[in-house]
Amino acid sequence: MDENVLEQIRQTVVQLCRDYPGSYWQEKDRERAYPTEFVDALTEAGLLSSLIPEAYGGAGLPLSVARTILEEIHAAGCNGAACHAQMYTMGTLLRHGNEEQRKQYLPKIATGELRLQAFGVTEPTAGTDTTSITTTAVRDGDHYIINGQKVWTSRAEYSDLMILLARTTPKEKCAKRSEGLSVFLVDMRKVVGNGMTIRPIRTMINHATTEVFFDNLRIPADSLIGEEGKGFKYILTGMNAERILIASECIGDARWFIETASNYVRDRKVFGRPIGQNQGVQFPIARSYAQMQAASLMVDKACALYDDGKTCGAEANMAKMLASEASWAAGEACLQSHGGFGFAEEYDVERKFRETRLYQIAPISTNLVLSFLAEHELGLPRSY
Ligand SMILES: Cc1cc2nc3c(=O)[nH]c(=O)nc-3n(C[C@H](O)[C@H](O)[C@H](O)COP(=O)(O)OP(=O)(O)OC[C@H]3O[C@@H](n4cnc5c(N)ncnc54)[C@H](O)[C@@H]3O)c2cc1C
Repeated sequence: MDENVLEQIRQTVVQLCRDYPGSYWQEKDRERAYPTEFVDALTEAGLLSSLIPEAYGGAGLPLSVARTILEEIHAAGCNGAACHAQMYTMGTLLRHGNEEQRKQYLPKIATGELRLQAFGVTEPTAGTDTTSITTTAVRDGDHYIINGQKVWTSRAEYSDLMILLARTTPKEKCAKRSEGLSVFLVDMRKVVGNGMTIRPIRTMINHATTEVFFDNLRIPADSLIGEEGKGFKYILTGMNAERILIASECIGDARWFIETASNYVRDRKVFGRPIGQNQGVQFPIARSYAQMQAASLMVDKACALYDDGKTCGAEANMAKMLASEASWAAGEACLQSHGGFGFAEEYDVERKFRETRLYQIAPISTNLVLSFLAEHELGLPRSY
């Protein structure tokens, strides 16, 4: 990737984010409103289609560019969660869909005419144990009939299409529990209120997340992506990109917290001198800076491996875990440095503090990252 091009993209993002200051996000957060204007601006600037190949109307850029875009959004105090999935959810369709499906959808996703940013995998009962999901898709002539429920399906109200994971063969009839799951591209425009119900979930952050119910939802059989029964594998292949990009957002958050904290403690005078002169105030900020820098190197490594088409499961997981811990440490140092003002809405610290906490849980929790490393990198027995 040409460094000048990357720098130009970085500057475009920095410039765009200046139009969306803290007051914009505070208002959205207060009203739990979707940041439509911000998402539209990113779409118009072509930033959300950077990963779509040029043949389908995108920019055909590597993951390292998407990484930079999301990191800068977060470093500017903004939040990419309202639309980050528009960048990478299409990967499932791109890698495993047929040419007809790619041609039908990708150019419209690239222009933003179609929003593909709903990803229906998690279910309330199965939790992290994805192969235990109970949403079913049963073939009926030229259709599949979907029944079941998803939870935490973010942005479903602001999406035209959904990538849906459902069981097509009962677990007991499969040789392996990871078999018998299939991926569908559901056109939500036609089915909301007609077999699909979306119910928003109010959470500690403004994340437009929902629960989705399927009640005999009838979708065309050609909504199936790839082969029936291979869906779990398809979903897994998209997860590395997602983890690397979420890690990039965490690096951006950490940068924002560190810069905000440093500026504040330099200016704030108590006992007649800047509080930043006290090592008790400096050290947590400096420590989180070291954590952020180290995590950033792991994000770089994971990204480079991904862009070279190499295996990067361990690196993507480590990047997500380390970056989410670094942003949390930086958030904690920033909040503590602000004293009581850290709790005031107008400083944005409390909002960013809440927002960055999510990434130790989603899209994969820290314990599950550690279990992966223990099993696959250290050769320890599988714990679950
Ligand atoms: C705001 C938000 C947005 C989300 N968006 C989406 C989305 O768009 N699409 C989607 O499909 N999902 C989404 N998710 C779901 C998210 O990926 C899951 O919440 C996450 O993977 C954890 O799963 P769970 O909530 O079911 O927790 P559980 O699986 O119930 O786990 C609860 C806790 O137990 C621990 N635990 C569980 N099993 C083990 C084990 N074997 N060993 C050690 N510890 C264990 C976990 O680490 C975790 O800390 C979102 C979640 C949130 C909160």
